[in-house]
Amino acid sequence: MARFIEHIYIDGAFVNPHGNELFDLHNPTTGDVIGQVRLGDAEDARAAIAAAKRAFPAMASTSRAQRRDMLHALHATMSTAIEELLEALLEEYGAPIARARWMASYAPACFAAMAETLENFPFERRVGSADVTMEPVGVVGLITPWNANAGFICNKLAHAIAAGCTAVLKPSEMSATQTEIVLRALHKAGLPTGTYNLVNGRGDVVGAEIATHPDVAKISFTGSTAVGKAIVRSGADTLKRVTLELGGKSPTIILDDVDLDVVIPAVIEAGYMNSGQACIAGTRVLVSEKLRDEFEAKLKTAVENDVRAGDPRDPATTIGPMVSQTQWERVQGYLRLGVEEGAAILVGGEGKPEGLDGYFVRPTVFTGVTNDMRIAREEIFGPVMGVISYRDEEDAIAIANDTTYGLSAYVFGEQVHAERVARRLESGRVVINGGAQDPHAPFGGVKQSGLGRENGAFGLEAYLEPRTILGSTSNHVLS
Ligand code: NAD
Repeated sequence: MARFIEHIYIDGAFVNPHGNELFDLHNPTTGDVIGQVRLGDAEDARAAIAAAKRAFPAMASTSRAQRRDMLHALHATMSTAIEELLEALLEEYGAPIARARWMASYAPACFAAMAETLENFPFERRVGSADVTMEPVGVVGLITPWNANAGFICNKLAHAIAAGCTAVLKPSEMSATQTEIVLRALHKAGLPTGTYNLVNGRGDVVGAEIATHPDVAKISFTGSTAVGKAIVRSGADTLKRVTLELGGKSPTIILDDVDLDVVIPAVIEAGYMNSGQACIAGTRVLVSEKLRDEFEAKLKTAVENDVRAGDPRDPATTIGPMVSQTQWERVQGYLRLGVEEGAAILVGGEGKPEGLDGYFVRPTVFTGVTNDMRIAREEIFGPVMGVISYRDEEDAIAIANDTTYGLSAYVFGEQVHAERVARRLESGRVVINGGAQDPHAPFGGVKQSGLGRENGAFGLEAYLEPRTILGSTSNHVLS
């Protein structure tokens, strides 16, 4: 039976929204409608903000130990929802099962990681003759996209709670099933009423209300660069603090001293992760003119043989469907554009993979791409890579940095050599030879990939404001 998600969450209770617009939820593997969500409106957003505002003074005065206990409780209750969340990620988002499993367990892991950060975070510092205390910024608005909705809800909320802020969440309207599962799990943790509130709704209605409301002190937004810019503009009148995690067009640099057979699976993983619907996907693949022919021949074989678009529940599947028909059409548009711009298809191309009816895209590699083409400059957000050849290392670095984005970069090569190149890249993070993500390291982009950082102490600091106390004679240290 089709599901109907009706409630939003305000003041610790599941309530009917004032808004009454219904929004269809799809299974992207089949294209079928699987349910509906009732969307809140601006009035609901205002009620959620008011609840968070009422809860703020008490939350702001909690101790480190109380915040840690809240994070542990949220971790425990979210952990019990992993299997249910996995099912929703398969059905509503279409993530291939290995990826979906990682995404489901990432949600509780966010609370555990932030509890660790909190343990030693210096809330009180002595600076010269001044005492500096780090104070929660206020009510925060947390806005998430559909490509990792559950994880972003949990990660942003973990930051807010560690800082002593209260929150209003506006998740992606396309991920309402995942949101509902997360919300029920969070509710079981029994946090004080109003600590976090959540309104399903459209970005230009509920999101826009949160982004302009004078009682919201800060917005943490993950999503497209265009909406990120709109949020900065709407927050200007009330000088909102912002953390923006936006788009990317990440370079993958292959240096000449690599073993191509080892590196190609990692290049594919970087380019096609999360079915290509990843802000950090390495979609501009830079290889020297010398290695290009050999690299392209091997890449083509590997994509044809080892990359499988199909049913997300099949363990052999590496690429799931695009999240929506709109997203599918957007990717098709770029596949046409690439050819019009003069690039050639090495593998893949327009249309659906044989036998698949949902929002599936053929895993594609363009060759003959130059860095001025739109397919090299704009985020496609599907399983599409472009191979760009470079003359020498200087040229590779120049091409890598010639982008308005700067979220992530990948370098493959002999270790010392790759490290030297990594340090010259204009990017919020650089991954050398497939190095693993660290949950405490700052995450975020330079240039138009964002503002500020999430995760660990850098992320927590972005939810705090320093208060300088002069003339203090006390030598106390905050609990
Ligand atoms: P989007 O920008 O369209 O929407 C993101 C969220 O913002 C949604 O909840 C949406 O409803 C809301 N929104 C839309 N208009 C708004 C407005 N005017 N005011 C306030 N909120 C508004 O992005 P999307 O299509 O959901 O997600 C894909 C994008 O997210 C890609 O560009 C991707 O690169 C980016 N992304 C970035 C990161 C990162 O960490 N840097 C991670 C994942 C996704």
